[in-house]
Amino acid sequence: MILTTHILSGAALGANVENPWAVAVLSVVLHFVLDTLPHGDYLNRKSSILEFWKVLVDIAISILILIGIVNCCRQMSDPITTRNIFIGIFFSLLPDGTTFMYCHLGMKFLKPVKKFHEYLHFYKNGAPQRQFSLRNNLFDILVSLISLMFLVSQISFPVFH
Ligand SMILES: [Zn+2]
Repeated sequence: MILTTHILSGAALGANVENPWAVAVLSVVLHFVLDTLPHGDYLNRKSSILEFWKVLVDIAISILILIGIVNCCRQMSDPITTRNIFIGIFFSLLPDGTTFMYCHLGMKFLKPVKKFHEYLHFYKNGAPQRQFSLRNNLFDILVSLISLMFLVSQISFPVFH
């Protein structure tokens, strides 16, 4: 899935779970669960490091969305919620981070993680259904919208704080 989906779902999880250790573990689990949903990716096994700009655009989009939310919901200044949101984002990105470290930084010991990660995907790497398109990425849109709902509702109407 695109990083924006993982970032928003991790942020939503962080905003809704109080225990930071639970946020960390659940964010990694959530990443793998979401990757089982059919989706396209803008990078594939043939992608080179030169296509890294797509990752930057992807991250920039999610940062802009989060800045927009922070501006709308002033109550986000609660430090525990903010900390948990950052923990959720970090650990939601970690699995794809290990793929990057394996593929581009030569960290071959991460091969089992990479294999497991790839195995979870509904369609094989290189399949037409794994191409990045509106049709192939409807789950990204759906999960991102649901995550935004959970994130905004928690920040606007905090339950635990
Ligand atoms: Zn992934």
